[in-house]
Amino acid sequence: GYIERVPREDDMELVDGGAVELRVPEGVGGGPTVLVKNLYLSCDPYMRGRMQDFIHGSYIPPFKPGSPIEGFGVGRVVHSTHPGFGAGDVVAGMTGWEDYSLITEPEQLRKIEPSDIPLSYHLGLLGMPGFTAYVGFYEICSPKKGEFVFISAASGAVGQIVGQLAKMHGCYVVGSAGSNQKVELLKEKFGFHAAFNYKEEPDLTAALKRYFPEGIDIYFENVGGPMLDAVLLNMRTHGRIAVCGMVSQLGVTSHVGIHNLFSLISKRIDMKGFIQSDYHHLFPQFVDDITKHYRDGKIVYVEDLSVGLESGPAAFVGLFSGRNVGKQVVCVSED
Ligand code: NDP
Repeated sequence: GYIERVPREDDMELVDGGAVELRVPEGVGGGPTVLVKNLYLSCDPYMRGRMQDFIHGSYIPPFKPGSPIEGFGVGRVVHSTHPGFGAGDVVAGMTGWEDYSLITEPEQLRKIEPSDIPLSYHLGLLGMPGFTAYVGFYEICSPKKGEFVFISAASGAVGQIVGQLAKMHGCYVVGSAGSNQKVELLKEKFGFHAAFNYKEEPDLTAALKRYFPEGIDIYFENVGGPMLDAVLLNMRTHGRIAVCGMVSQLGVTSHVGIHNLFSLISKRIDMKGFIQSDYHHLFPQFVDDITKHYRDGKIVYVEDLSVGLESGPAAFVGLFSGRNVGKQVVCVSED
C-alpha cells in the first residue's frame, strides 16, 4: 500500500526475480523495446511523492506497490528492437530498481556517447538535478552580477551546482546545510563565500541577517518550512525566490505555516515555482555548457555512491535525514 509519512527502509523489499528471459516482448502498442542492464540508479526526493497515493496537485503518478521502484538510471543495452539503440550502447532515462529492465518506451532514453565523464554523473551533474540547477538559476532567478544569493540544502545534488553557477555569474553566495562536514564542503570544495549549519542556529532569521546584512536578492528554495519564513523577512526589495523544492514538507501531514508572506507585497518579491521538465528544450544547451565548465575545472561535483542494489532503500531513505553527502547514487554494476 501507500505511505503517508517519511519513507523507511522496510517500506521497500529486495526480491529475487530469477533469470531474465532473452525473448524480448513488444513494447507499448506493439512497439519496439530495449533490454537494459542497470549500472547506476538515482535517488531523488520527488520519488517520495510516488510512494503516496495520488495526491492533489501531484505532477507524477504513484508507484505500483509490488513492482520495482522506477527512477532515473544509467544502463547498458543488452538487446534492442529499436533502431536507435544497439547492444553495448550506454543509455540514461527512466528505468527500474532491478538488475535488468525492459524499457517499453525507448523514446525516453538518451544515448550517452563514450567520454572521460563518469557514467554516474549523467544522473546528477549532467542529469536531471544538474538541469534543475541550470534552468532554476538562469530561467527563474533572473540573476545579475553582484547580487546576494542564498541556497538551502546547498551541498545536495541541485544546490551544489546552483552555488557554483551563481559564483561564476559574479554573485555573492551563501548556503545552508545540515552538518559541519557539509558546511566545510560548501566553503572549501564548492567555493561558496560563506555557509552555515542550520541545525546549530536557534534563530534562522538572525542567522540570515548575520550572513546578509544588506538582505538577499535571490533565494533558491529547496527545503521550505521555517527556513522559507526566515528568508522572507531577509529578502531585499525586488528579490526573487525560485521555488525548486520543499524537502522538509514532503510526507508531513501538517505543513508548517508560513507567516511572513506579506513580505511578497511589501518588498515586491517575485516567487515562482518551476519543474525542470518544462524546460526540456534547453537540455542540449545545458549538457554543452556544463560539460565545458566541468572540463575547464570551473565546476566540481560531489556524489555519494552506495554500492549494490541492496543498498538502495537505505540510500533513498537517507535523503530525508540528510545522510547523503552530495548527489545520492546507487551503483548496481560497474559494467
Ligand atoms: P539533495 O541531494 O539536496 O538531498 C536532500 C537533502 O535535503 C538532504 O541531504 C538534506 O540536506 C536536506 N533535507 C532533508 N530533510 C530535510 C528537512 N526536514 N529540513 C531541511 N533539509 C532537509 O536533494 P536534491 O538536490 O536532489 O533535491 C533538492 C531539492 O530540489 C528537493 O526539494 C527536491 O524535491 C527539489 N527538486 C526539484 C526539481 C524541480 O524540477 N522543481 C527537480 C529536482 C529536485 P541537509 O543535511 O543539508 O539538511
